[in-house]
Amino acid sequence: MSISSSSSSPQTLKIGVVAFGPFGQFLAKTMIKQGHTLTTTSRTDYTQLCNNMGVSFFRDVGAFIEADNDVIMICTSILSLSKVMQSMPFHLLKRPTLFVDVLSVKEHPRDVLLQVLPEESDVLCTHPMFGPESGSHGWKGLTFVFDKIRIRNIATCSNFLRIFENEGCKMLEMSCEEHDKVAARSQFITHTVGRILAEMEIKSTSMNTKSFETLVQLKENMVTHSYDLFSGLFICNRFAKQELVNLELALGKIKQKLLERLDEEQNMN
Ligand code: NAP
Repeated sequence: MSISSSSSSPQTLKIGVVAFGPFGQFLAKTMIKQGHTLTTTSRTDYTQLCNNMGVSFFRDVGAFIEADNDVIMICTSILSLSKVMQSMPFHLLKRPTLFVDVLSVKEHPRDVLLQVLPEESDVLCTHPMFGPESGSHGWKGLTFVFDKIRIRNIATCSNFLRIFENEGCKMLEMSCEEHDKVAARSQFITHTVGRILAEMEIKSTSMNTKSFETLVQLKENMVTHSYDLFSGLFICNRFAKQELVNLELALGKIKQKLLERLDEEQNMN
């Protein structure tokens, strides 16, 4: 066992990132700033980018797994998680390792990780409730949700959580089920409304109200996220389907009320 994972004092960690897309890169920058050592593997070849960032890029997944990380952080799209995890040669792990996922849904990665990982691996499910846009000026006051699913090496888990504590995140321990329930009524609705506004092609006008500017901003923020992310929020959160129905019902009710009122007004004249 390495010194870094055997002490309870703050330590730098060796962190392996699986999938080095926008969010993996965003998290990696702060981890490097804090002095942690980063390695990564990804479907796309990020050798050049990684060289510039000071991250070791592994084309070969086996060599990545053998690189003896304290933590392996999963940053795949929600929809590719199962395929990516099933293709990883975990038998090459040199020692018990902490696996952390950062996906925007939580029951799905919890189930996949418990299914594919060796029993001796620890599992921490997390969701940083911010991204490259909202976290561009630091993470202070931004929420970090986590659920300690299977933790035996408390020191490594604490050291990992400290990355976010040290940046001033609001740490929120919550079950994966509770997260998905709340996220379906908040984050999924936010993305869906943003996508609806994009579908309507709403644009800034010469006579914007402040509220309309908020809507334009929402649309612009939401379309910066990949469609994989948005559809994953729906497909892999069992509570999202009902919220989509609720949204449709609500729109129907409002339309109904407006049409009734229109009828009343026309009948009065
Ligand atoms: P994303 O579109 O959700 O995921 C992109 C990543 O998934 C890339 O690294 C990509 O690999 C990998 N990927 C996609 N399809 C794949 C496939 N078929 N096989 C192998 N790898 C595949 O965008 P993201 O913004 O980077 O998000 C990554 C994760 O973080 C998601 O689970 C998301 O829910 C979570 N998250 C994102 C945010 C945010 O604000 N962006 C915030 C919190 C949590 P390559 O790069 O190698 O092509």
